[in-house]
Amino acid sequence: MSHPLSHPTPDLSARTDFIRQIVREDLASGKHSAIRTRFPPEPNGYLHIGHAKAICLDFGIAAEFGGRCNLRLDDTNPAREDPEYVRAIQDDVRWLGFQWASLRHASDYFEVFYLAAEKLIRQGDAFVCDLSPEEVRAYRGSLTEPGRNSPYRERSVEENLDLFRRMRAGEFADGARTLRAKIDMASGNINLRDPALYRIKHVPHQNTGDAWCIYPMYDFAHSLSDAIEGITHSLCTLEFEDHRPLYDWCVDRVDLAGHPELLQPLLAKGLPLEAGKPRQIEFSRLNFNWLVLSKRKLLQLVEAGHVDGWDDPRMPTLQGIRRRGYTPSALKLMVERVGVSKQNSLLDIAILEGALRDDLDAHAPRRLAVLDPLKLVLTNLAAGHEEMLTFPNHPKDAGLGERAVPFARELWIEREDFAEVPPPGFKRLTVGGEVRLRGAGIVRCDAVVKDADGRVVELHATLDPDSRPGMPGANRKVKGTIHWVSARHAVAAQVRLYDRLFRVPDPDGGADGRDFLAHLNPDSRRVVTGYVEPAAAQAAPETSFQFERLGYFVTDRHDHRPEAPVFNRSVTLRDTWATQG
Ligand code: ATP
Ligand code: MG
Repeated sequence: MSHPLSHPTPDLSARTDFIRQIVREDLASGKHSAIRTRFPPEPNGYLHIGHAKAICLDFGIAAEFGGRCNLRLDDTNPAREDPEYVRAIQDDVRWLGFQWASLRHASDYFEVFYLAAEKLIRQGDAFVCDLSPEEVRAYRGSLTEPGRNSPYRERSVEENLDLFRRMRAGEFADGARTLRAKIDMASGNINLRDPALYRIKHVPHQNTGDAWCIYPMYDFAHSLSDAIEGITHSLCTLEFEDHRPLYDWCVDRVDLAGHPELLQPLLAKGLPLEAGKPRQIEFSRLNFNWLVLSKRKLLQLVEAGHVDGWDDPRMPTLQGIRRRGYTPSALKLMVERVGVSKQNSLLDIAILEGALRDDLDAHAPRRLAVLDPLKLVLTNLAAGHEEMLTFPNHPKDAGLGERAVPFARELWIEREDFAEVPPPGFKRLTVGGEVRLRGAGIVRCDAVVKDADGRVVELHATLDPDSRPGMPGANRKVKGTIHWVSARHAVAAQVRLYDRLFRVPDPDGGADGRDFLAHLNPDSRRVVTGYVEPAAAQAAPETSFQFERLGYFVTDRHDHRPEAPVFNRSVTLRDTWATQG
């Protein structure tokens, strides 16, 4: 399948997915005069490729329709969160090219949540329950059986308020009591069977310190955070579809928009009062074969040392793929091609890699590099021969300009571009045969120099002067063209040849029941010393190139120096795994 490169981002008005349709209708009907979205990651790990889809939808849709998108750190679970993740999340969102209207923490709203909970108690919509976690489970029922009411369900409002205040004051141990919504223990939706709203946890919090020993549960905190921020369209993944009735229940029963007194604590924090009634809309999760995306498994890879940290270029984290050479525009192109639906599916990694190839093919300058060098001596050039050849940076985009590539008597070529005994159909260099040196002319190999072990160490060749660029014979046909660099001018570079981290398309599954770690690809990283033309070495970190005939490479974000270049292979020119899936 081919994708038109001239329009990697299609006309916005052409996007007709169901979420944009809803937004369009809500604006047209006047239900909202402006839209507001948010991206709400929990800072308990690094963002991964899946999150890129959520980010592109949350920020992208807001931008397309002239709305605003907040970045909200959903930090309601104190034990698992870390400021290191908070920093990385902000870095990732900015890298993708998005700017939040406002940076929020769900913990900024703890006092509002607390007031909202007291309101629910006063309305008879919540109660303090003394059942242990095991008892709660036993009372909950199952998919086929209704649950049973807690014996504490009919406590008076006064008793509930007193107990809830004492929960907050720290009088009870972890797990001793919960605050629960009073909804319906017979509901077909288990989320509505008097779900917990607050739990006791004597754990300090990264943002609020020791201020709290009770923490709100996800559904309560998330729905009210959306309401507090005036979010109009709360986009999330499909696993929250069953939570939507609870989300709506919390928003409706608390009714922050109708009760500004509950928002007073925000003023003390300098936050605006802008509460509204949000609508939750679910879309399918992004999932690719050949990858694992679960934070728990990614942590295992890091902790067991199978990779060099969260930003190892083989990791599917945004920090990892960024270092690998993925570009924001490649990720956006991928999200565009995948589309938005309510159908969860496992996508082929070729979609991800294809988006990167297409983006880099269109935008990455070309360079010459040799990764497995064999010396080629042009014996009919003078020893000190040196000239600068002019190469376009891109075959299809003159706007990317030109560069000078040094050419001299001694070159490096790829060892595999020469064969002493050529296999059938071999089109490259053989003894007595001719090949074109990219942009320099045609050479004939006259002799082979071997070492004591019989290994070829040098080739002697003659450059046909009439075949050089600008000469009458420049267009003379030969079967093959190979790349090269000048041995004297080229810069030695560390080149990290990355490949897929797993050798099977379903590292997570597999009927053999083996652990995903059993499927690690032992060849996922090979490090070689290659030679690159000077214009490649001089690049700043995080510059992408196509090394002609080899693939796409990027200067390493952390380790690259012009005098000691380090390149990471982002992706090969073609899918070398296609037949193995
Ligand atoms: P994980 O399951 O990997 O731990 P998570 O869902 O717990 O991820 P959050 O930090 O809660 O991660 O996610 C923030 C937002 O990103 C949520 O709105 C969530 O729905 C969305 N998101 C997470 N994973 C994906 C995915 N694979 N595809 C699309 N959106 C995702
Ligand atoms: Mg989550």
